Amino acid sequence: MRILKFGGTSVAGPVRLRQVAGIVAAAVRRHEVAVVASAQAGVTDALVAAVDRRERAGLVEHLAARHLRGIEALGGPQAAAAAEAVRDRLTTLEALLGAEPANGEHAAWRDAVLATGERLSVHLVAAALAAVGLRARAVDAAELIVTDSGFGNANAQPAATRERALAWKGAWPDGTVPVITGFVGADPQGRTTTLGRGGSDTSAAVLGAALGARRIEIWTDVEGVLTAPPRIVPNAVPLPTLSFGVAREVALLGGKVLHPRTMEPAEAAGIPIVVRSTFAPQQPGTVVGPADRRTAHARVVTGLDGVALLSVPAHGWWSGGFGTPASRLQEAGITVLGFSRDEPSRVTVAVPQGETERAADLLAPDTDAASRVDRRADCCLVAVVGDGIAAGWRAEASLGDLLDRLHLPVVAVLRRSSPDAVVAVLRGHFLRRAIKALHGAVIAADRLSRLERTTHPSSPRSWGETRLAWQGGRP
Ligand code: ASP
Ligand code: MG
Repeated sequence: MRILKFGGTSVAGPVRLRQVAGIVAAAVRRHEVAVVASAQAGVTDALVAAVDRRERAGLVEHLAARHLRGIEALGGPQAAAAAEAVRDRLTTLEALLGAEPANGEHAAWRDAVLATGERLSVHLVAAALAAVGLRARAVDAAELIVTDSGFGNANAQPAATRERALAWKGAWPDGTVPVITGFVGADPQGRTTTLGRGGSDTSAAVLGAALGARRIEIWTDVEGVLTAPPRIVPNAVPLPTLSFGVAREVALLGGKVLHPRTMEPAEAAGIPIVVRSTFAPQQPGTVVGPADRRTAHARVVTGLDGVALLSVPAHGWWSGGFGTPASRLQEAGITVLGFSRDEPSRVTVAVPQGETERAADLLAPDTDAASRVDRRADCCLVAVVGDGIAAGWRAEASLGDLLDRLHLPVVAVLRRSSPDAVVAVLRGHFLRRAIKALHGAVIAADRLSRLERTTHPSSPRSWGETRLAWQGGRP
C-alpha cells in the first residue's frame, strides 16, 4: 500500500484537484492507495481566526461558496453526495460556533472547529477522484487515529491506532480509494483532536505505519526538500535523498516542507517518505530514508525568526541534580532550539521568543538566581543541517569563523541534541542575509567543488575545504 498525502495548495480548487485525481489514478493502476488530504489552503487559518479572534462574520457562507463551487466545477457521479456532505458539515460548524463552551471544554471545542477544514476537503477530493472514474469515499480519521487528549497538538498513540486502523481496513471494500482527513484524530473518549498546525503530514506517516504502507508520499507545492527556503534563496535545489535525522532537524529549525513529527513513525516502521510536487509530478522529489552514503552530502541551510537567547551562570547546574538545562526545558514542553555545551562559566540556550519567561524561571535554580538570567530577545537562528555535520568538536568554531568572514554578527553558536545540525543565533533582521550567505558558502560552493573534482580530478581541492573544516573534513 502507498499513502498519498496532498497538502492545502494541492487541493485548493478544481484545477488542482484534477491534477490530484490524475496522480492518484496513475498510482492506483499499480498499487493499493490510501489518500490523506489537508484542508484547502487558507481554510484552517480562517477557522483559527474564528475561534481565537472571533472573526466569524461570513465564515460559513464563504466556506459554503468555496466548497460547493468546487464540487460543481468538478462534476462527476459523486458531486451531489459531496455537496450534501459539505452542507451537513457546515451546519455542524454553525452549531459549534454558536455554542462556545467555558474554560474546561474550550480546548476540545476549538479542535472540533479546526477539524472542519479537512472534514470538508475530503469530500471534494473524493468527488474529484470519482469524476475521473475511480471509486472513492471520504473517511474521518477520528475513526482511525487514536491520540492523547493534548488538544491543539495531540500525539498519536501507535498501538491503539494500529488496532483501529487494521480493523477499519479489514471492513473496507477492495478497489475503493479511501480519502482520509489529515490533521485530525480522536482521543480515547472519542473527542476530536488535532495534531498541530501542518500536522497532516504526520497523519500520513502515522497511518502509513499503522497500515504497513511501503511508502508515504507527501504531495506538496515544492519539488522536494530544497537546500534552502526558495523564497529566500531562489537558486536552492531539491535534494534527491535525505536521512530521517536531517529531515527532522530541518523541520524543527524552520523548514516548512514537512511537519517535524512526520519522521518518527515512518523511521520506526522503516517506511520511506517521498516529498513530491503536485505541480511538477514528472520530478522525482526527495526520498527521506535511513542515513547512508547517498544522504551523506545532503545539506540544508534553514532558519527562523522570533528566537530568544537566555544565559545563566553555570554554577549550580551541573551539581544541582537538575539534569542539563536543555533537558529541564524540554521536559516542560519548551522547544530548545540550541544550547551551549562546553562553556565553563555560563549556560546558554535558544528558545522560541514566546517561551522566554517560562524558560527563564526554569533555568534559575532559585529565585535569587532568576535576576541573573540574561535575556536577549528578537534574535534569529540559522542552521546548517547535514548527516553528522556537528559530530566533530570543531563544528561550532568553524560555523562561527565562517559567519565572521561573511560579516554576519553572531551572538552565539550553539549545538543541538542531534549530531546533524549546528546553529547560530544572530540579531533578528539578519535572517535572510545569513541564509543566503551561508547557502552560497556552504552548499553552492560545496556542490561546485564536487562538480569540479568529478570533471577535473586533478584540480586543487575546493574552496569548500579550507573554509569548511566543520563539514567533517570530507573531501
Ligand atoms: N490544515 C492544517 C493546517 O493548516 C493541517 C495541514 O494542512 O497539514 O495546519
Ligand atoms: Mg504542510
